[in-house]
Amino acid sequence: MSTKIADLAEKLGIETKELREKLKELGFEVSPKARVLEDEVADLVYEELSEKGGASDGEGGESNNEDDSDVAEIYDEIIAQQQERQIIKSQRKKTAGKIKEEPPKSPTSTPVLTASDSIEMGDFISVKEFSEKTGINAAKIIGELMKNGILANVNQQIDFDTTQIIATDLGITVHRLRTAAGADELMSGDISNMIKEDDSSLLVERPPVVCIMGHVDHGKTKLLDAIRNTNVVDGEAGGITQHIAAYQVSKKNKLITFLDTPGHEAFTEMRARGAKVTDIAILVVAADEGVKPQTVEALNHAKEAGVPIIVAVNKMDKPNANLDKVRAELSEHGLQAEEWGGKTVFVPVSAIKGEGIDALLDMILLTAEMEDLKANPNREAVGTVIEAHLDHSLGPVATIIVNTGTLKIMDYVVVGKAHGRIKLMKDHTGKSMQTAVPSTPLLIAGLSITPKSGDILQVVRDDKMAKGRAEEIRMIMKKEEEERMSGLNQLISTVKSEKILRIVLKADTKGSLEAIKGSISKIKDEDVAIKIIHGGVGTVTKSDVMMASASRGIVIAFQVEYDSPVVPKIATHENVEIKMYKIIYNLLEDIKKILSGLLEPEITEVVLGRAQVRQVFFSKKNDMIIGCRVLSGKLQNKAKLKIIRNSSKDTEDQIVGKGIVDSLRKVDELVKEIGEGNECGIKYKGDIVLQEGDILEAYIEEEKHRTIT
Ligand code: GDP
Repeated sequence: MSTKIADLAEKLGIETKELREKLKELGFEVSPKARVLEDEVADLVYEELSEKGGASDGEGGESNNEDDSDVAEIYDEIIAQQQERQIIKSQRKKTAGKIKEEPPKSPTSTPVLTASDSIEMGDFISVKEFSEKTGINAAKIIGELMKNGILANVNQQIDFDTTQIIATDLGITVHRLRTAAGADELMSGDISNMIKEDDSSLLVERPPVVCIMGHVDHGKTKLLDAIRNTNVVDGEAGGITQHIAAYQVSKKNKLITFLDTPGHEAFTEMRARGAKVTDIAILVVAADEGVKPQTVEALNHAKEAGVPIIVAVNKMDKPNANLDKVRAELSEHGLQAEEWGGKTVFVPVSAIKGEGIDALLDMILLTAEMEDLKANPNREAVGTVIEAHLDHSLGPVATIIVNTGTLKIMDYVVVGKAHGRIKLMKDHTGKSMQTAVPSTPLLIAGLSITPKSGDILQVVRDDKMAKGRAEEIRMIMKKEEEERMSGLNQLISTVKSEKILRIVLKADTKGSLEAIKGSISKIKDEDVAIKIIHGGVGTVTKSDVMMASASRGIVIAFQVEYDSPVVPKIATHENVEIKMYKIIYNLLEDIKKILSGLLEPEITEVVLGRAQVRQVFFSKKNDMIIGCRVLSGKLQNKAKLKIIRNSSKDTEDQIVGKGIVDSLRKVDELVKEIGEGNECGIKYKGDIVLQEGDILEAYIEEEKHRTIT
């Protein structure tokens, strides 16, 4: 069926000549001799040209949708026809309805039906979807694609790069909506790929995230308090209803985020899980005490993480404060003070007096500037969990720091094994929030379960995706756990007899080694012990295996490989287990499990009830059939019995023997148990002969596996 060009022009209220030009602009090459158009093409053209006045204002959405599906079908057909024509190179004289194979001369000269001049897409978008999002007619998009040598139909998927090219020609900006990271990526904790932007022009400055590390008692907590008190943002009193493990201060109109978890354990754990949230580390050293073991540990952690260090020499108010001593000691560990020609900033402070805090904040801002910390606030958020717990009224809550993007209330998220929808967002003062931009610390609620620190939060499209991704993560974790457990069980049986777990520990760095040693030393139980027989930095060697073999221990390797492929073979031969870890948390959990397996189960007696012997029916040695009455609780078949004779209120019960209920009858019927007040027949087996009046206390033994926490 066809439509006359003249009729269509009349319907549109324009001249035939004008219509012919418009057809050309739209990408339809119509021969000057042609008088008719295929109906489908005529409809499309009518829709395109008549819509100019109305469709772009967003009205008539309903009919648009219907048309869209028509458009889809028609275009599929047209493209199919066109492809056919191209293949067979048919010279058929078809004058109308032919899609132009040459690009339209000036696609942008036609006023486009731009509903939106900026759209978001994933890696791919269909022509139809692109049309819907931009309000540009599908025909026009197809024409534009053709211009770029791409033959597409409305349902065809076009990739981001292609979309960007045609969008630019159409005057539209496209932003890439990143595909949500896969379960593996989320689990690795490495967000570098997730937060990487395709386009650096989208990045804007973000506040630095700072953590405070150092030796115990050198004033980390006091320093965090001093900073909070002087410059906290929106610090009106009384607002804090929930402790948030991070806060922000404002200095020179710039924000700084502080992790409010002094000590490097949190830092280490997060780093061990691959998470990187800290931009700058403040190393607190007490001016009177100087460098201590944990100072060095903290320093190594920061160095390994590649995080710039600012030294805060604290307790400068003390009479024996010695700044130079601290400078000298730290220079031995590779931190040369600027004053001494090095690169490390040393800021003398007194947390107690609040002195030097401003200078410290200035230095943080200066360092941040040099680090060029940026993120894209206009994208779906990615964040890192700093701390999480179960709140009695809110359920699982987590303090997170937004790494990139803007987190919004009611966003769907996946956070480690948890999923959910953000139902509540609070800042560090307890104020509700609707959105949180990069580097903002905040408390969120609405998760299915409590996540772990270091877990990555990712905003996803919908509930289904959040659930799916969390489920994938759960499955991967379960599988890993099972694999680890099968090895563990073997190990448990080998070292069970000795009640001591001997470990040869190898780690990638001194910092990790010390951190693991420290954490292991905290796992305690009086019945079993752990002994690190050797700890070192580097790959697992043959001599490590031999050492473990000699002492019937195991090798634990953290973030390191075998020295050579023969090492695992030697281990198999020597019957030595080598356990390799990438995550400190898993390592410690496994050690706890091994130790728990070494513990004898705890046996507890659970009293079921008491019965009194009323009559002895039959007696052959210690095999007896007796009649009883249940005085309290219940009797149970196969329950153990304690026999109490001459029981009286005034004296303590005398246990004169033990036995079991071999079978239990109520009248003639065998029963599993019988309750208080009932008469019953018992087939008894035991070490003494029962007498009338004896009390039988029935109990069962429960084995409880002890676990080390
Ligand atoms: P943390 O273990 O590193 O968190 O250390 P704290 O912040 O708990 O401080 C340890 C001790 O040092 C406390 O008794 C503080 O009062 C004291 N302290 C902290 N900062 C200063 C300071 O600037 N001057 C003095 N004189 N004492 C301080």
